[in-house]
Amino acid sequence: MTITSSNPADPADVLLAVEEPGGEAVRSAVLRARAAQRGWVAAGAGARSAALGRIADAIDAHAGELAALIVREVGKPLAEARGEVARTSAIWRYYAQAPYAAAGEVHETAGGPGLLLTRRRPHGVAGLIAPWNFPLAIPSWKAAPALATGNTVVLKPAPEATACALRLAELAAAAGFPEDVFTVVPGGAEEGSALVDTADVVSFTGSTGVGRAVVRAATERGVPVQAELGGLNAALVLPDADIALAAEHIAAAVAGYAGQKCTATSRVIAVGAAYGPLREALVKALAAVDEAVCGPVIGSAARERLVGAVGSAVEAGATVLVGGGVPERAGWYVEPTLLADVPAEHPLVREEFFGPVAVLHEVADLDEAIELANDTPHSLATSVHTRSLDVALAAADRLDAGMIRVNAPSSGVDFHLPFGGTKGASHGEREQGRAALDFYTVGRTVSVLPGGSL
Ligand code: NAD
Repeated sequence: MTITSSNPADPADVLLAVEEPGGEAVRSAVLRARAAQRGWVAAGAGARSAALGRIADAIDAHAGELAALIVREVGKPLAEARGEVARTSAIWRYYAQAPYAAAGEVHETAGGPGLLLTRRRPHGVAGLIAPWNFPLAIPSWKAAPALATGNTVVLKPAPEATACALRLAELAAAAGFPEDVFTVVPGGAEEGSALVDTADVVSFTGSTGVGRAVVRAATERGVPVQAELGGLNAALVLPDADIALAAEHIAAAVAGYAGQKCTATSRVIAVGAAYGPLREALVKALAAVDEAVCGPVIGSAARERLVGAVGSAVEAGATVLVGGGVPERAGWYVEPTLLADVPAEHPLVREEFFGPVAVLHEVADLDEAIELANDTPHSLATSVHTRSLDVALAAADRLDAGMIRVNAPSSGVDFHLPFGGTKGASHGEREQGRAALDFYTVGRTVSVLPGGSL
């Protein structure tokens, strides 16, 4: 089989076609990475820190080229692509400091001379499986903490984002990473599952069904695994909110990068008197979104699924408030869409669709809004739009999402804080921030006692 990666805005523009290397290629990359790991950890904090810093410099030096590659390969609007490149170098720079951080604690013995130590040590080879939607940032927020803590890395990118991942590997090689410390193996399900079967620690980001299978396989082998999966994210708007600002934030979270962020808003919940003004402001804001903000969806299958879901919702009684169609042009574009009156059990309000489509709900009060927001297993991010501190505090207490954002779009990530969902949206330890350093290491307890009488 061949992996073909093409431009979602112009499907005739093929970036790359490479043969799938097969599971054996992954197994041998893991073996080589395992052989390289001892040297990588022995090189010490200084060498690891310097290498991570050099990748950050290389990303900055190639920022324009990398942003253009992201635009071309996954259809991300240019401003967001530039933002992703800047965030990627910041991630490498942030984790470049990590090798120098304390790796444990010292305790007194219960009696007599000696030292008791705790120490975090790397697992070995980190097997990283990434989706296509953040083709540089997600591989980097997995690889940087894994490498900083002394693991070596084998990364299997999404087929749709192969060119970006291979370019990242080239920059790492040029930045002087020792051979086999950071390897990218292109591929699909076969290569991904071979990686899960051989790595010493597994980090996965992608869709819910695939992620659950990855978690089962890694758990069966007894290796640590984390999985960040899809979200069905809500935005709650209270009557006291600045409605124009809330509509601006929500339109960005629904339609920015064509809704293809795990934290994108797909359910808008208006409380009481907020409904009318919000509906009007949101229709206006979504109608004004242009291709510089929205862009195409990743491929024809994604577009068909979205168009099919909107059609079946309308058949079931939904009203299209804005959008609902497909622009007459090349590329996999879908109009930013807002629907009302969608039946409660329709797939659009139960599953992640990963496109610029949202459903508007009207509820009587905050209790009902929180209940509706929590009524999903895909609890990744929820935004709350209000001027009331009491509402913000109640939301922080009672919403069950992993990320709660007050007066901000649901679709925002701070790489220096832990990131992840709850319930079915996430499995295992958090990614990003210091939490990632814990995930890529395991604790050891060391007792050092005198070899003879002192
Ligand atoms: P996907 O699940 O189709 O693929 C993800 C990765 O898994 C790809 O590299 C793919 O090749 C690999 N894969 C496929 N089958 C496999 C198997 N059997 N074993 C091992 N690996 C396998 O997801 P996608 O379409 O690339 O990405 C979009 C999804 O990612 C959305 O659901 C989105 O919400 C989710 N996502 C989640 C987060 C988060 O942090 N929660 C962030 C970004 C994207």
